Amino acid sequence: MDTVITQQTVLERENLFKNLKNLFCEVNVHEYQNAMQKAQEAVVEFLEENNQPFSGVSPNELRKQFENINLNEQSKNYDEVFDEVKTLYTKHAIAFHHPKYVAHLNCPVVIPAVIAEVLISSINSSLDTWDQSAGGTLMEQKLIEWTCKEIGFSKESDGVFTSGGSQSNLMGMLLARDHYSIKHFNHNIKKNGLPIHAHRFRIFVSEAAHFSIQKSASILGLGEQAVVKIKTDRSFKMNSILLEDAIKKEIEEGNIPIAIVGTAGTTDFGNIDPLHNISVIAKKYDLWFHVDAAYGCALLLTENHRHLIHGIEEADSVTVDYHKSFFQPVSSSGFLVKDKNYFTLITHYADYLNPKDHDDNAIPNQVNKSIQTTRRFDALKLWFTLRIIGKKGLGDYIDTIIQTAKKAAVMLENDPEFEILNRSDISALVFRYSANPFKTFDLNRINTYIKSQLYKHGNALVAGTKVNGQFYLKFTILNPLTTIEDIQSTLTIIRKYGNEYVEVN
Ligand SMILES: *Cc1c(COP(=O)(O)O)cnc(C)c1O
Repeated sequence: MDTVITQQTVLERENLFKNLKNLFCEVNVHEYQNAMQKAQEAVVEFLEENNQPFSGVSPNELRKQFENINLNEQSKNYDEVFDEVKTLYTKHAIAFHHPKYVAHLNCPVVIPAVIAEVLISSINSSLDTWDQSAGGTLMEQKLIEWTCKEIGFSKESDGVFTSGGSQSNLMGMLLARDHYSIKHFNHNIKKNGLPIHAHRFRIFVSEAAHFSIQKSASILGLGEQAVVKIKTDRSFKMNSILLEDAIKKEIEEGNIPIAIVGTAGTTDFGNIDPLHNISVIAKKYDLWFHVDAAYGCALLLTENHRHLIHGIEEADSVTVDYHKSFFQPVSSSGFLVKDKNYFTLITHYADYLNPKDHDDNAIPNQVNKSIQTTRRFDALKLWFTLRIIGKKGLGDYIDTIIQTAKKAAVMLENDPEFEILNRSDISALVFRYSANPFKTFDLNRINTYIKSQLYKHGNALVAGTKVNGQFYLKFTILNPLTTIEDIQSTLTIIRKYGNEYVEVN
């Protein structure tokens, strides 16, 4: 009996030791290097073999491959897992780096940021507190200071890295709500919950603003009804005269305007609201001014186009999305405020994490400014990027993209088979195939068909959107390697599917 137990114990110990080789630590450096090498090879294979933006696989085809996978059965080794992951994922992953990927706001990423990810996930600092990150916290702060300075904020400003533009917008609306309530009702929402008038709070955005503002309003207990959408002008920018009219109307109706959100770079059109005019109105009515520059923060990088976001420096809070237009891998975003004291509206102290006496002893705990607790050191990617490529280098990428978008707009305008809706301040163009000689075909159907064919074949990807109930195609150009020839050949493909629809139906 005794010997059986001993043998079993030996076996268990052996298994444990076998598995311990997977722990990331000094004795397992060889295992680490070996696995990293394989990961690198898989990525290179992805770059070399995925020579169009998408394989065209359908959800059903791919789902079949998952049917016999039992996650309780281990694979033998890395080679087996890499093969499996290739079949299920890498082979069909959307290739954002491909010049003919011009669909959503996904930038190609830069190598310095990619290699920073290796340090980020291996060393695995958590940026909530100094005692879990040390230098990481100071690097993040330095990048926040840099961003604030580029925006034109004073030394009183501050900020924090976030998981994305949606989270940054939520934080903007959260501060707007709580600030207003304290200032005008002497009511602390953090402590006491929503005041009785909260259902009358109103937030003004353009009809082209990002849906995360509505989502924020509902999360914050104000309801989507709190969001008042202002009509855009012909270039899809917020009409500031209509904005003021709407504010007056809401006040007359007994509602309580608390904030205006200006979009610097709308998701669909890449156009920038008249930020300065909006800031004047915000001041006049004593409203929080939030600028959603998730996309438009790109213009901070380029002297040639920086003037387009003039007025951003007047904001109370700003959303920037480095993973939208600073060529950073997901996730990497920022939320910046003009006055660091605003953050006290959301600071909570926990004795085990960030006790209040840390503040007095100048120990920097970023969690005081965040709605997350454990948080990735995403800032390191931007650090590597600025050190290796520099602001000017990134700015040149942005200038190139803007130039390509301008040329693409002219190409679409001069082509009788296409109809283009906007001139973009950045790089998003909304258009549709409109060759329809006998006007017998519904353009919505033709363009929906075109988009589905593009995804089915995967050789060029564009996005789709609706404007005034009509379906349009959209180019979002974020790759400096995308040439006007790429755009031209994508239009040729679009034309082909357009003709095909007309012939078949
Ligand atoms: C993408 C986008 C967002 C949301 O950002 P995420 O990083 O996707 O959360 C917000 N605002 C605008 C204008 C955007 O384009």
